[in-house]
Amino acid sequence: MSLLPDLTQKEFSREDIATILAATEVGEINKIRVAAEDVLLKHCGAEVYMRGLVEASNVCRCDCFYCGIRKSNKTVTRYDLGVDELVSLAQQCVAFGYGSMVIQTGERSDKKFIDNLETAIHRIKNETCGDNLPQGLGITLSVGEQTKETYRRFFEAGAHRYLLRIETTNPELFAQIHPPEQRIETRLECLRTLREVGYQVGTGVMIGLPGQSIEDLANDIMFFKTHDIAMIGMGPFIPHEQTPLWGKQCPDEESRLRLGLLMIAATRLVLRDVNIAATTALQAIDPQGREKALRFGANVMMPMMTPENVRLDYLLYPNKPNLNENAANARLDMEAFLKNIGRNLGLNKWGDAPHATK
Ligand code: SAH
Repeated sequence: MSLLPDLTQKEFSREDIATILAATEVGEINKIRVAAEDVLLKHCGAEVYMRGLVEASNVCRCDCFYCGIRKSNKTVTRYDLGVDELVSLAQQCVAFGYGSMVIQTGERSDKKFIDNLETAIHRIKNETCGDNLPQGLGITLSVGEQTKETYRRFFEAGAHRYLLRIETTNPELFAQIHPPEQRIETRLECLRTLREVGYQVGTGVMIGLPGQSIEDLANDIMFFKTHDIAMIGMGPFIPHEQTPLWGKQCPDEESRLRLGLLMIAATRLVLRDVNIAATTALQAIDPQGREKALRFGANVMMPMMTPENVRLDYLLYPNKPNLNENAANARLDMEAFLKNIGRNLGLNKWGDAPHATK
């Protein structure tokens, strides 16, 4: 049995983090969970922020070895939502009381995509202002590696948060799960550029990749800390049959779920005042995965707002849950669950991390 470090300390070493992530015993895991929940309530409060998730296009120029919508997967029907559709989805978010939306896509840099997204952001900001949201809906982008100019255009149009996962901070592992033209240096440069442009910057990793060690994951958390990251989105790796990583050895589902929850708790203990998402990938492994994540220190939920007719075309991984999640029911279910655990929905507000607004 590993001896846990002092979970209330302010500075965790890499070894402390690795010890936390290696916990397997129920009593220990619960101690970690309780400590993470304490830190969350103290530094961020009891609110869970909602961001309506819109997967706006699955067209992608990348060929990541893990991702179901990689360019080489010819079985995928490609789609692209129009500007009007994005604006109307944004209005639905407002109607549900979600103060923010996340626009996520495959990676594209064609002119039509950039022009349309810029127009959509402008229009969403203008057309969602109201009593509840005087500055309009909060917009988070997750549209991959772009030029500084493009990042600036989206920012000036009104997006104020950006998620770009580093996927893993181990350079050798990064090279094993991406084709050679996709470089970790480019991701790092993009994260720097996003900050320069003025975004609140989020990143994250996949957990339980083939060849990934506990030390790698501990290093990932140290990276979030040293790079002053304000938002974290991470979840278990889920093998997809139409990708090169299919069949490669990785931890079993139970271990990936446990590691996913421990990563959230450890990140909460180390970074304290950041936003951490309860991601869909957790729910793909365990139907209660997102709810468990909230109890391990997560404070952001991303209910699915992608139109139902294209949801099946955005399968980054199989068993993606909530393919028929209905946004209205999702909110009611979540409210009931949160009430039970002494938390509440943070409605009609952007819900920026205290870390970002300090
Ligand atoms: N193209 C955008 C965002 C879309 S992918 C970008 O590059 O930022 C969003 C995230 O899904 C990825 O960053 C990756 O971490 C995750 N993902 C992709 N395939 C996955 C898989 N098979 N299992 C778990 N997560 C996966």
